[in-house]
Amino acid sequence: MTVSMRTIDLRSDTVTRPTAAMRRAIAEAEVGDDVYGEDPSVNRLQDIAAERVGKEAALFVPTGTMANQIAIRSHTRHGDVVLATEGAHLLRYESGAAAALSGVQVKTIGSGDAPDAGELRAAIPPIDAHNAPATLLALEISHNAHGGTVPSLEVVRDLTSAARERGLATHLDGARLFNAEVATGTSVAAWASAFDTVSFCLSKGLGAPVGSLVCGTRDQVARIHRMRKMFGGGMRQAGVLAAAGIYALEHHVERLAEDHENARSLAEGLAAAGLDVVRPPQTNILLFEVGDAPAFVGAARERGVLVNAMTATRVRALTHLDVDRADVREALERLRSLVPGPRRAGSL
Ligand SMILES: *Cc1c(COP(=O)(O)O)cnc(C)c1O
Repeated sequence: MTVSMRTIDLRSDTVTRPTAAMRRAIAEAEVGDDVYGEDPSVNRLQDIAAERVGKEAALFVPTGTMANQIAIRSHTRHGDVVLATEGAHLLRYESGAAAALSGVQVKTIGSGDAPDAGELRAAIPPIDAHNAPATLLALEISHNAHGGTVPSLEVVRDLTSAARERGLATHLDGARLFNAEVATGTSVAAWASAFDTVSFCLSKGLGAPVGSLVCGTRDQVARIHRMRKMFGGGMRQAGVLAAAGIYALEHHVERLAEDHENARSLAEGLAAAGLDVVRPPQTNILLFEVGDAPAFVGAARERGVLVNAMTATRVRALTHLDVDRADVREALERLRSLVPGPRRAGSL
């Protein structure tokens, strides 16, 4: 390999760096103290987000983890059960926050990116002295651990109405909800209309350096605002970050289609090379099975391609703003060299 070999980073869509135009927006941002509610850029971002998501209000928070966790805290009491999907980010990748910070038990339902309404009803315990009450249903769209999948709006609506009938609140971890919009043509507002609160990330495919929003009614967002302060997320001249978010919402949504196309073409190329692709990507996340995922990840790194091991045998690759068509072709060439012909037992 030549020393100038460019590393192609497919570990996550969080690795993007702000573009020159986004950096200009950051440099020119009007700011104030957002803990006093006086940062015009944060206020503008929150207004834009609420409007896009079709909710009364939105709150800017530092991370998607905080967005989920303050939403959980606002919807539940200690000892409650939160129902979530298998592999849910808020259970698997948020450092035990739901238990530690809200005192809730998270119980997963089904084995896919969304259970059906029957499975949900069966998972809601009766209200009696023996059971912890289930008070929140949380879904994730697109579903990270299942490979960026997007369940149908009909399934989602059935689920949230079943939850509501039984008195549960509903939260959508929409970290990549804009990917779902672009992939399906169903607007973020349509997805969000099925839920009480919705969060989404600016720092993933949208390419901003930092930030997420939590959206809901004015009352819910007021409660969540208090939780943000309690969890240490009150920021001051956060307008420099909000400006990047506004820029991202104005310029980086439609282009997500390119990431989806790149993920599909990478999947097709890897499948043609004999890799076991879990399913054709619906959005920007690709999962494939190998004999030994950590060994594959190490060998790919040596060839200048970064990917993540999800399990002992499963590898994840994501496409994003900082990898173009040519990078994807190059990544495919380099990864192909790790799979000489159809995969055999014992090969990487
Ligand atoms: C990335 C992500 C989050 C939040 O992650 P942060 O790194 O805390 O911003 C939440 N949910 C899902 C599905 C994610 O992919």
